[in-house]
Amino acid sequence: MLDFLGNLERTHLCGEVRAADAGKNVVLMGWVNRRRDHGNLIFLDLRDRAGIAQIVLDKELTPDGHLKGEQVRPEYVVAAVGKVRLRDKDAINPKMVTGEIEIEATELRVLNDSRLAPFSPSEEAIQNEEVRLKYRYVDLRREEMQRNFKLRHEITLAIRDNLSQQGFLEIETPILTKSTPEGARDFLVPSRVHAGEFYALPQSPQIFKQILMISGFDRYFQIARCFRDEDLRADRQLEFTQVDLEMSFPRREHVFAVVENFLSAGFAAAGVKLPTPFPRITYDEAMKQYGTDKPDLRLPGLTDVRPAFTDETLATLNIDPALPVVALRIPKVGELSRKEREDNHPMFDLKKGAKFIDDFKRLGKSFPEAAAKARELAGAADEDFVIIVAGDPAHHIKASDTKFEGRLSEREINVYAAAGNFRTELAKKYADRHGAFSVTEKTVVDAHSHNATDAIEGGAAFNPIWIVDFPMFEYDLASGKWMPAHHPFTAPYEADMANLVSDPASVRADCYDLAMNGLELGSGSIRIHRKDVQQQIFKSLGISDEEARARFGFFLDALEYGTPPHGGIALGLDRIVMLLAGAPSLREVIAFPKTAKAMDVMADAPTTVSDEQLKELHIRVALKN
Ligand code: ASP
Repeated sequence: MLDFLGNLERTHLCGEVRAADAGKNVVLMGWVNRRRDHGNLIFLDLRDRAGIAQIVLDKELTPDGHLKGEQVRPEYVVAAVGKVRLRDKDAINPKMVTGEIEIEATELRVLNDSRLAPFSPSEEAIQNEEVRLKYRYVDLRREEMQRNFKLRHEITLAIRDNLSQQGFLEIETPILTKSTPEGARDFLVPSRVHAGEFYALPQSPQIFKQILMISGFDRYFQIARCFRDEDLRADRQLEFTQVDLEMSFPRREHVFAVVENFLSAGFAAAGVKLPTPFPRITYDEAMKQYGTDKPDLRLPGLTDVRPAFTDETLATLNIDPALPVVALRIPKVGELSRKEREDNHPMFDLKKGAKFIDDFKRLGKSFPEAAAKARELAGAADEDFVIIVAGDPAHHIKASDTKFEGRLSEREINVYAAAGNFRTELAKKYADRHGAFSVTEKTVVDAHSHNATDAIEGGAAFNPIWIVDFPMFEYDLASGKWMPAHHPFTAPYEADMANLVSDPASVRADCYDLAMNGLELGSGSIRIHRKDVQQQIFKSLGISDEEARARFGFFLDALEYGTPPHGGIALGLDRIVMLLAGAPSLREVIAFPKTAKAMDVMADAPTTVSDEQLKELHIRVALKN
């Protein structure tokens, strides 16, 4: 039999009762985390979002409460009325914040029962994530999840507050709208009223935030939900949250200053001090030094070791002398066994035209000087593991040999990127065994710490870096067309504008990425604010006037009504929280995420709908067998 709540009022959260409350009458409500039956005494660990308190049900003091205590099971919802008392010395539990006290109950009300879930929230997360997601309501009761979402709330609040202080207004933009090009597929929503027509969910608020600048709001931000219909490879979600902002009359320095300011506030809310200003690197340098445009600065970069080899040596090793020869050093890994070396081979994407030499023993025997010199150039200590990555002369896709003056060629990028991939994969693989990362990869932050003096000096654990000077266009081999490296509203460098037609390869984009610990946290740009330039860019991208009008006619019109120079950025909030929570995946910091198969297994979405609904929407479904 369940009890009614009646007019019982909660006085404290379970996790808040302290020794100083001894002697007070309290009413606590929560979930039964654990129950221990010692005959005449029953102990209940009562849990709510603040923590756990121990309730004692003494048969003599409350025969009725004791009887109910015999019946309750884990996750039952109960209210306990009683008095706080200090525990006996030997019963004090220093591991619990409430470990000095217990509640001597005079009454217990069983407010609800609970079915037995496939796992208990009082234990560590189970391996089967799909089961966790199906019973998400139980999973979210786990302390770790409660901590992650409290952290998320605090970070978001701090960012909002900071941006408001910096003069940004939070303005909502539509969810049912027209396609915004961010390079993914759109989610479409059929219109009931306009048969055969569709809204698109926003891939980002991009066009609207630019229009808000035309509207004179000067500084806009939004904690914005974005929707991108992508294959959920790796750690991505179909819908995700960005801290999206736009400002009028800025140079990129101003955008950087705003971001460094709000991000520092967000990190401070998690007890982490970020060193500012963030360092900067050009795209080309990032590729050369780290083999990626989202470098993880916790590891040593790549070293150019071409000078260690003569052309003859490279010829003997069947290496392309015209391509980069780089070394990657993973600290403190030592020599790998043959088996380990062999296991690593599949990690390396040879198809892409890169080769690697991991066997220094062999290289050292045949070419001792080159091997020693390469190690020296890479700054390798005895215990460091070094691999050399170089170009495969046999790998030639005709068009990919196209080399544009002053830019890295695709073949060069392939070598750097292969080295970059291998660098992070190997470092992750050997991190635990050999301490390859100079700091631990997971830096768990105490979400309960509101106290700035508790701040972890996180400079070494979280390494932000701006990537700048991206090329404006990327050459698409298949279509022979230039594609925007960012989105088509990104402004070219003013100084490069004259080359838009004559030499598109040389044009740099005024756009920037922010990377941290190997993750892209966000990207943004200074935008095109003049219609003539925008038309020119569409032309360079092979977007016809008709197509441009059909897709963004409203925006091109708006550009003609007094558009100020403007620019902005969007940072992935989920990723920021994931980093600060030390969580292994975005799903740990999104309350109701989709699985890798793009499903909401709890709500069972997506799902079929009734014929009636389809008819109303003027839709007929034709399934291919
Ligand atoms: N809309 C861009 C994105 O979502 C960000 C920006 O350029 O502000 O990546």
